[in-house]
Amino acid sequence: MRVFKFGGASVKDAAGIKNVQYVLQTVGYEDVLLVVSAMGKTTNALELVIKHYFDKSAELNAAVQEVKKYHNQILLDLFEDENNAVFAAVSAQFADLEYFLAHNKSPNYNFVYDQVVSYGELISTTILSHYMNFMGMATQWLDVRNFVKTDANYRDAEVDWELTQANISKNVKRKTLNITQGFLGSDPNNFTTTLGREGSDYTAAIFAYCLNAESVTIWKDVPGVMNADPRYFENASLLNQISYREAIELAFYGATVIHPKTLQPLQKKEIPLYVKSFINPLLQGTSVSKGVDLEPYLPCFIVKRNQLLISLSSIDFSFIMEENISEIFALFHQFKIKVNLIQNSAISFSVCVEDKFNNFAALNAILSKKFKVDFEENVTLYTIRHFNDGAAQTVEANKTVLLKQVSRETMQVVTKEV
Ligand code: ADP
Ligand code: ASP
Ligand code: MG
Repeated sequence: MRVFKFGGASVKDAAGIKNVQYVLQTVGYEDVLLVVSAMGKTTNALELVIKHYFDKSAELNAAVQEVKKYHNQILLDLFEDENNAVFAAVSAQFADLEYFLAHNKSPNYNFVYDQVVSYGELISTTILSHYMNFMGMATQWLDVRNFVKTDANYRDAEVDWELTQANISKNVKRKTLNITQGFLGSDPNNFTTTLGREGSDYTAAIFAYCLNAESVTIWKDVPGVMNADPRYFENASLLNQISYREAIELAFYGATVIHPKTLQPLQKKEIPLYVKSFINPLLQGTSVSKGVDLEPYLPCFIVKRNQLLISLSSIDFSFIMEENISEIFALFHQFKIKVNLIQNSAISFSVCVEDKFNNFAALNAILSKKFKVDFEENVTLYTIRHFNDGAAQTVEANKTVLLKQVSRETMQVVTKEV
């Protein structure tokens, strides 16, 4: 069995959905499990719904209507006949969402988040499945929440592998075209959970692992994994082959083309991961598998913008030692601030972090009691794997370098645009 993952960009409009059908026709679709994300930027649009819901804003209804309108246009573009059952199926899902928003009593933000954003994937797979059937390709629509079981840590749920394995082994039919949702799972009480933003790649890996799949293919708007994000680097080149280890490193440092959690289950069973273009499905793309680290051998660039560089020094010239460092890290963890780089000297300690949830001001109030805190906002962290002189120059040109760290394989540079 092969597992295919189609992300938001591949199903962002009617043309995208028609293209998915074309890809399947081209590469075959018997004995396939499709994992599909919400259409286009639907998850962001539903996040806005949640914000208005908690703000008790009058704009809540308009935000829901916006999501409806977007999907309705796609339906009209795909199915001329408004009597097609898909219209009623999608309406029923929106009615469920509106019912939840009107009747929910839980004040738990993360719980509400998961119950609401999940409609993105439920609706996208409903539309795709109906379209495939309409085009004569019979599909099995699976509610992923009956398969992927997790704990109740909403927004970042942990998979219960044993239960998940049992559900998948028992209930996924082979020799057919299965369609299911990425990103979602369900907790022990059967409430919906999510696996973290961009988590659909991980869902594909979970199914592949439990099905002992032959391979996973993630279909992208780029030719494969490149040595840099082509949005930011004009001369990015395709990597034909990378090892699991190299892919894990690239994803860990922030190459957003593969979700970092995806690789580990695949590597355990040596299931190859192909990253291919949904525009040119017959091109080779990138193969992530056992074998050479990187072919062609090129420096790989990863950019993380909007970082915060924090330097802590002791107020009384005492050393910054294990004891302070563990305390500082516990605080970063508590405030959900992600540390991307660390450097320390005798009396100072610098970290480049990502403050996704805007918690730094609160953290700073605590840190400032014990340390002298300096910080620089809006800096960029460049990571170069397999760097050379030319690569380093490219990154440093016309910028102020605030911090630099070099190991055998990896160079990291924190810069400020000048
Ligand atoms: P999906 O629709 O599957 O969620 P994403 O938009 O998350 O797809 O991922 C594809 C994007 O990842 C590309 O459009 C590209 O801009 C970006 N990207 C970042 N780093 C790389 C890289 N090293 N190689 C290829 N694409 C990359
Ligand atoms: N729809 C989810 C997101 O946008 C999951 C995914 O696309 O992988 O984060
Ligand atoms: Mg994505």
